[in-house]
Amino acid sequence: MKTLKIAIQKSGRLNEKSVELLKNCGLNFENYKSSLISPVSNFPLEILFLRDDDIPEYVQDGIADLGIVGENVIQETEVEVSYLQRLGFGKCSLKIAVPNNSDINSLADLHGKAIATTYPAILGKFLKEQNITSDIRTISGSVEISPGLGLSDAICDLVSTGGTLKSNGLKPFADVMSSEAVLIGSKAIAESDLVLELIQRIQSVLRAKE
Ligand code: ATP
Ligand code: ZN
Repeated sequence: MKTLKIAIQKSGRLNEKSVELLKNCGLNFENYKSSLISPVSNFPLEILFLRDDDIPEYVQDGIADLGIVGENVIQETEVEVSYLQRLGFGKCSLKIAVPNNSDINSLADLHGKAIATTYPAILGKFLKEQNITSDIRTISGSVEISPGLGLSDAICDLVSTGGTLKSNGLKPFADVMSSEAVLIGSKAIAESDLVLELIQRIQSVLRAKE
């Protein structure tokens, strides 16, 4: 029987909950922080530990059959994968935020303004739908400090509690998308018996939590 591969985040916000979910499915594996691949001893499955940004493409290309990743990352990478199951953790929203003292009061006020983000594709699509042309500045991290440095008028970033915004003198202004961790599959394997077995186990773990 072919061994399936599932890609999960190596370290970060989704790692612990992803490992916990798979363990709760009765899968036995070592969770070594140092290894990239961990075989499951009691199911034909291997776990690949990757950076979350790489997971959608690995699944699209069939290097991994399945993956656990935030919807925000899937949307941003614009890959062709199947959504198999929402997982109920890693919940957050992608929001536009502005400094507390900003004179930006409506979406239309964003016209011609600089917005810093690590999500240029999602933000670009959102602004286009609203008929707004802004200067999207793509940066790779610490987006929340950008207005204070004079690098942007607004930011578009992931928010869960809002604490990071607050401590940087920013206020949420508009919702761009809400996100949670989802199970994705490559188009080629989405319907196999092994995959269905795994999805069923995941669904019963999620049901038990309700
Ligand atoms: P990696 O090293 O794997 O690239 P990362 O720094 O890009 O990690 P994390 O900060 O660990 O990513 O976030 C992983 C995912 O967790 C996000 O893509 C998002 O779906 C989710 N998430 C939930 N809450 C938040 C939050 N407050 N800020 C950022 N991401 C969040
Ligand atoms: Zn990442």
